[in-house]
Order: sequence, then C-alpha cells, then structure tokens
Amino acid sequence: MRRGGEREEEEAGGGPARAAQLEELDGRELALVPSAVEDFLKDYSRGKYREAVRRMAAERGRSVEVSVEDMVLYDRRLVDALVANPRAFLEVMEGAVRALLRVEDPEYAQRARRVHVRLASLPELFKVSLRGLRAEHVGRLVAVEGIVTRMTPVRHVLTTAVYACASCGEELRVDGGAPPGLKCPKCRGRLVLVKERCEFIDVQKLVLQERPEELPPGQLPRSIEVVVTDDLVDRARPGDRVTVVGFLEVAEDRRITRDGPPTFAAYIDANNIIVSSRDVEAVEITPEDERRILELSRREDLEELIVSSIAPSIYGYREVKLAVALLLFGGVPKVYPDGVRVRGDIHVLLIGDPGTAKSQLLRYACSVAPRGLYTTGKGSTAAGLTAAVVKDASGEFVLEAGALVLADGGVACIDEFDKMEARDRTAIHEAMEQQTVSIAKAGITATLNARASILAAANPAFGRYLPNRNIAENIDLPVTILSRFDLIFILRDVPSEREDAALADHVLGFHAEELPPGELLPPELLRKYIAYARAHSRPRLSPEARQKIKEYYVKMRARGEDAPIAITPRQLEALIRLSEARARMHLRNVVTAEDAEVAIQLMEHFLRSVGVDTATKLVDIDTVMTGQPKSQREKIILLLDIIKELVRSNDGNPVKVEDVMKEAQARGLDEAFVRKVLEKLYESGEIMMPRQGYIITTV
Ligand SMILES: [Zn+2]
Repeated sequence: MRRGGEREEEEAGGGPARAAQLEELDGRELALVPSAVEDFLKDYSRGKYREAVRRMAAERGRSVEVSVEDMVLYDRRLVDALVANPRAFLEVMEGAVRALLRVEDPEYAQRARRVHVRLASLPELFKVSLRGLRAEHVGRLVAVEGIVTRMTPVRHVLTTAVYACASCGEELRVDGGAPPGLKCPKCRGRLVLVKERCEFIDVQKLVLQERPEELPPGQLPRSIEVVVTDDLVDRARPGDRVTVVGFLEVAEDRRITRDGPPTFAAYIDANNIIVSSRDVEAVEITPEDERRILELSRREDLEELIVSSIAPSIYGYREVKLAVALLLFGGVPKVYPDGVRVRGDIHVLLIGDPGTAKSQLLRYACSVAPRGLYTTGKGSTAAGLTAAVVKDASGEFVLEAGALVLADGGVACIDEFDKMEARDRTAIHEAMEQQTVSIAKAGITATLNARASILAAANPAFGRYLPNRNIAENIDLPVTILSRFDLIFILRDVPSEREDAALADHVLGFHAEELPPGELLPPELLRKYIAYARAHSRPRLSPEARQKIKEYYVKMRARGEDAPIAITPRQLEALIRLSEARARMHLRNVVTAEDAEVAIQLMEHFLRSVGVDTATKLVDIDTVMTGQPKSQREKIILLLDIIKELVRSNDGNPVKVEDVMKEAQARGLDEAFVRKVLEKLYESGEIMMPRQGYIITTV
C-alpha cells in the first residue's frame, strides 16, 4: 500500500510531506488545492468517486463518503491541507463534488440544495480517545470512537426564513432567521413567517460515551455531546458503537455558572457517523494469539482447563462455572422462515445466600467477556437496565440507553438483579426474549437492540434460600422473568465439614500466594479465546446431537393426558443453545452427541437444584418456576383437601385409604394417579399412615 502511495505521489509531482510542514501551509498552497481535489475525485481508482456521485444522484441522496486513506494514497498533500484547515478543505471538496454532479446528473445538481462530503477511514493521526480530548483539539478534525448512550428527538432548525409583510405583501428572505424587531423594508409593516416556504435543516444531539470494555477499572465513563445534522440524523441509535468524525467545538455553558465568567462545554460538530458492524471484534487477535488459540482448542482437557480458570479464587461450583463458560461462548441466533428470531444468547441466574461469591463470579465473567458490562439491578443511570426517556440538564427530553442496550453484542453481568425498577420489570421481558427494547414517550419512539447474554445474581427474598419453598416464593421477581433464564442455580451456604475444610484450604492457599492446583488460563488469553470462538465458530446440530436432545425432551414431556410435563419448549431451546456453546468452546462447527450430553447434564443439575423431580416428573417445571400450579399440582392439592375434609369429618382421626380413593374418584381423579401421589405425600411426610390402610394429614 505504501509503495503504491509513493508512486502516486511521484506521479502527482510531490514527495512525502512531513508533519512539521503542515503548519507552514499558507494561503498560496491552499489555493493549489481545488484542482488537486477535483483531480482526486475524478481520477482516483478508476472513477470510484465519480461512481459514488452517480449513486448519490440516483438515490436522491445528499452525501458522498470519501476515504481519507484514499487521499493519503493519491497525494499526501491533500491530507496535509485537510489537517491544516479542515473546514475550508471540506468546502473545497464539496464544491468539487457539486462540479462532478453537474456533469453526472445536471438535473439533480440543480435541485439538490445541499451536498455533503462525509469523511471516512481516517488515519491514526486524526484518532483521539474520548478521554484524550483536550483544549488543543478545539477546531480540529477528530475521529472519536465510542458508544451512543443518548439521543434527542429530531429538531428542525430554520436555515432560511421567508417573511411576508402583513400590510403590503412584500416578501423577504433572511438566512438563519431574522433579528428581533425586523420590519417590512417598504412600509415598516409587521412581518409574518411563511413556514411552508422556509428552509429547515434536521438537527439531533447524541451523547457519545466511552465503550464499557475500554473503561479503566473503577472509573466513571466520560462522554461528549455530538451534534448531527441533515442526513446524519437518526443514523445511529443509543447502544450503537460508532466512530464520530467531526470538529471539536466549544459552546458557552451557562448551566454551570449563571454568574461570573462563562464556562465552555466541548461538543463535536459531526461530519460523519460510522456505525460499527456488530461483528467487529472487540478484541485484537494477533497471528501469534491465533496459533495459541488453535493449539489450546486441540487439548484433551480444554473444558476442564476453561472451567477451572473461571474465577479460580472461588472454590467448587463446577456446574455454575461450566454454565458461565457456556454463556460466554454463546449459542447461535436463528431466524425461522416465518421471521421469528430465536436468540442464541444464554441467560443464567444465580440465586445465592449472602457470602456465596456471586458478585465475584459476575466480575470475573465480565472481565473475560469480549464485551462485558457490569451493573446492578438498579442500573448505573436513570435508564436502568433497559432504556428511558429522561430530561437532560438543559431540560430537553432524551432517549437514554440502559445497561442491556449498552451491552448489545456482549454480556451483561447484573448483580442484585432482584432490585430492578418497576419500569424495567416490564421492559425486560422483551429485552430477554426478542432482545430489543421498545420505547414510546415524550414524542420519542424507538426500538433499540439488546442482543446480550444476561448473567444475573439475586438474593433470596427471606435472606436465605428456603428449600421447602419454590423459586418464585424465594425470590422477589415475577415468574415470567424467571422463566426466561436458560439455567438457574441456587448457591446455598450449607455447612458441611468436608466441604468447609476443602474451601478453607483453597482460600488459605490463595492468601499464602500458592497457586491452586493445576494449570490456569490467564484471563487475557481466555478473553481472546472466547472472542475468537464467537467470531469463527457457527455450530450446527449433528443428527446424533439432535437425536440425544429429542430423546431427553420427549422423556421429560407428557405421554398421555394425565402424565406430568417436566419441562417446556423453553428448556428445549436452552438445550440447543447450551450444546452449540459447548461446540463453540471446542471451536467446532458441528454440535456432537457429547456436546448435547453435557448440555443435558447441566439442565438436569438445574432442574434438580430448583426442585423438579426429573425421575418421577411429579413436580414439574411449571410448578417450581411459575409458582402457578398446573392441573397436576391442582389435583395434588385437591387430593390433600379431600383427605383433610375426611379427617375433619372423622373428628381428626385417621381415615380409610379406601374412602379417600372413593371420594377422589367421585371428584374425577383416577386411581393410579391417587396411589402415586399418596406414596409421594407419604414420602415427603405430608401424610402419615398410623396403621395399615389408614392415613392422616400432618399439616
Ligand atoms: Zn410592507
């Protein structure tokens, strides 16, 4: 590339310019620029920009995007001139585009009121980090990367006003509105604005913030206002990762000091907004990294290595760590022929007694996620977890992105998930399943992307997890939210001598700066590995994996009218995602039977941990998850009620099983079901059998 650039520079009759010469560029040299700019647009790369101008005309657009890298290759001095006086240079270039447009499409050239040159592919010398913006950059052209967090509605700013005199009808055109007290120049009569003949330009303000994964630890994100006009309006939405090309400007800011010397707030007057595609890798991977990643992927003990590397300071919790690992790799999103989109992102909830290291797991996951965002249920801003329309400091309504929108394309680690605001409790359903956030308030209507995995932690409602109550009772969250998690783990702090001793050794070992036994992946390498896997592996189910999952699902599902349903289609989708994630972990494009087996084992662990009886299916997922007993549960309750009634009418004495059976059948319960449930109730201690053939309730 460089060689080509030099050759073209020689052809253009110039040598490589030096940075030191830039400031010496005087008016005479700048005057040379217009013809050079025109030549560049006409000649570069077999008419690339002539074609761009033609396309703009055909689409009735108003902008042509010009690559600054192209200018570097064509004639470095063009870039020098751009650096020296960017606004003047852009005017020259827009003039040249108009000249080209007159040749390519004279009719449109006449009609087009505005033509913009939007700069793209800026070389390093223009790039400034948001944190690095300083007074020295004011007035300069900069390229700043970040994430859009806020957006105002579109306003229409008057650029040319047309007035008519109320007395004599005289018309008057004034650029940029009119000074107060303007009178008719002919008769001094009152002037009335003729709105339909005025010219307006669309204006919108955005707030650009540092990307969450780039934030130095413990620092609050920096942000800057960006003003976009005309066809740049609505190009980016909150949650989009963008490069803003524009001029750093300052405006008097009376919000801080009403009296005293004025302070100035910086903003960017945008020339271009380039929205990054979602697939752009958040992590840079060198060829050397790739070699290490591929080597790792071939190791026999890969899964163990990754699982034991997840939050190594936390002892145990193998299944939880495996689930977190699979969440980080993620499944594959699918769009069915009817347009229904099924997420590939895996959601995991950890419900835990205090002191069970939930937060530590979340923080670790966040640090190795290629795009990780850590927040709490309340969120870090007024927008909370989803999005909100809020008033900014100047009293204007703005749409602000919440955590899940900012985590789009990554992983949101949400601590104290149960503390989320009422507004989020409603909006999060859509965010978790459709992975969008829709909002319509104060004239702002938008649908934002929230394609993120959620790793959430919550505290039990009673301080500790009560094993004899279902999840819905144990946690202060609606069951409809709970059912959207692929896996839920209950981390209980149950004392056990053997476990406690092992845990103590583990923790004390860490404090003695001993490494835990075995090899660990450094977090930075794991992060790169995950990023690489997400970018390069798109696994599909093999026939064997499909068969395994199907068998399990069918086994857990109903057979016949009265058989309980242990799991629902939600768990089927979760199994597919988990299997895909495990294939990704191995950098495979095929989901094997073994992947499916691992996913099934995790699902079994989850179901058992929340109290689903996968062997008898007597307690189903709906009962423990939704807390709304399905017909099965209702029948069990009915049977218990029958026994209680009979016991009561027998003065509190044990009743005959035979009588219970008769009454139950009379009320529509079948014999086999009643026998099975009675056995269960006996086992769980809810009924007693003081003598053969007689039962009594204990509660
Ligand atoms: Zn008049």
